[in-house]
Amino acid sequence: MEKKEGEGDHKALVHVLVLPYPIHGHLNPMLQFAKRLASKGLKVSISPTLFMTKSMKIDAGPVSIEPISDGCDERGHEEIDDAQLYLEQLTTSGSQSLTKIIEKHQHSSNKIGCLVYDSFLPWALDVAQRFGLRGAAFFTQSCAVDAVYYYVHQGQLVFPVTGNSVSLPALPVLRVSELPSLVSRSESYPAVLDLLVSQFSNLDRVDWALFNTFDKLEEELVRWMEEIFRCKTIGPTVPSAYLDKSIEGDTNYGVTLHDQNADCMNWLNTRETGSVVYISFGSIAELVPEQMDELAWGLKGCNYYFLWVVRASEEDKLPNKFKEETQDKGLIVKWCPQLEVLAHHAIGCFVTHCGWNSTLEALSLGVPLVGVPQWTDQPTNAKYVEEVWGVGLRPSVDENGIVGRIEMEHCIREVMEGERGRDIKRNACKWKELTKEASSPGGSSHNNIEEFVTEISGG
Ligand code: UDP
Repeated sequence: MEKKEGEGDHKALVHVLVLPYPIHGHLNPMLQFAKRLASKGLKVSISPTLFMTKSMKIDAGPVSIEPISDGCDERGHEEIDDAQLYLEQLTTSGSQSLTKIIEKHQHSSNKIGCLVYDSFLPWALDVAQRFGLRGAAFFTQSCAVDAVYYYVHQGQLVFPVTGNSVSLPALPVLRVSELPSLVSRSESYPAVLDLLVSQFSNLDRVDWALFNTFDKLEEELVRWMEEIFRCKTIGPTVPSAYLDKSIEGDTNYGVTLHDQNADCMNWLNTRETGSVVYISFGSIAELVPEQMDELAWGLKGCNYYFLWVVRASEEDKLPNKFKEETQDKGLIVKWCPQLEVLAHHAIGCFVTHCGWNSTLEALSLGVPLVGVPQWTDQPTNAKYVEEVWGVGLRPSVDENGIVGRIEMEHCIREVMEGERGRDIKRNACKWKELTKEASSPGGSSHNNIEEFVTEISGG
């Protein structure tokens, strides 16, 4: 289509720098958002750490890559085996490195005008504002989870959390075990808890707070957030091919963490519609060996076809001979193109840790879930999956927090073929349509992104 005179020209002058927290689950949504901004005519760069650019394959498409240093360029955060020390190092090196990137462009036609920074990195706003840049905090977790950390920040939720449940404004009553684990077990990772609470430390100074969710998904919370911050929902940040289909070639995140097993798509092509259980616990979660065992025997017990992502570092927890004994029914891979897998007609259910990206992807693609949360935001996401959105089941855990094989088998069967499974599938279809609606012209996230682009372009 021919460009009208002047159209898009002012946008091309705005250079937006996007700064994700250096883990895969944050790079995916922020790169995806960066690509969406670039598709609107903005000049956009993204700053993964140098280590990320070496250890992952990143295809940022129209977005330029401006690596940042967290001071651990060789082995990433593994170089510093202490979360507190790593976060201090990230703040010091990251601030210096970000300053250099901004300075480099300061007097060029590519001058950076706006920083979209991961809300886990509040120091980035201080750097941006020293240069007079505008700042947008990008929240990669759900509004519900963010609200819990906000209440901690405000002193409305204190440690240790006592009683069986908590009742907080705009949230359903949450059993203590349904709070983010960093809060319910506040002693477990104090440095990470501090990081998450400090997301709000300077939020009163941001120009925008962007949330990777959409209005209808967390309606009451979004309204509540809007009272406090200049908040815009812009999610789900799933490639356009799976939502509004408006960006040509936007079919995947462009980030590959491990070697993918190309066979799995061919394997899925030979399966019938809705016949396969897909299992993945994301990029970080480590199952205790007993949980791996119970999951494995639960899968064998229900006798469906299954595709299971077991990262190389988790492989030795698989029961002896399990692979051989189940090779007629199952395919175990180290990593897969998850979006393509979830979009495949053969997938009948997704056994997931309920990481926020995986949850949004399943909602976008209408895939029913069995939620087996492990830590951080996952218990809260799993609560919403089962009780608020009705798109899955949460198996019960024993006194050690383990889902036993019989319970696992029962929940998978129920979702695949049971009475509750029928309701779950209906709800999954409903949410799939609502995600499309939010991302398409006239939808809430679509409109918010348009508004954001106009605002940063000085409109
Ligand atoms: N993922 C993938 N292939 C896999 C497993 C996961 O591409 O085999 C992607 C998945 O699509 C999602 C991300 O990894 O975008 C995991 O993010 P999530 O927030 O669900 O979990 P985390 O890894 O942060 O715990």
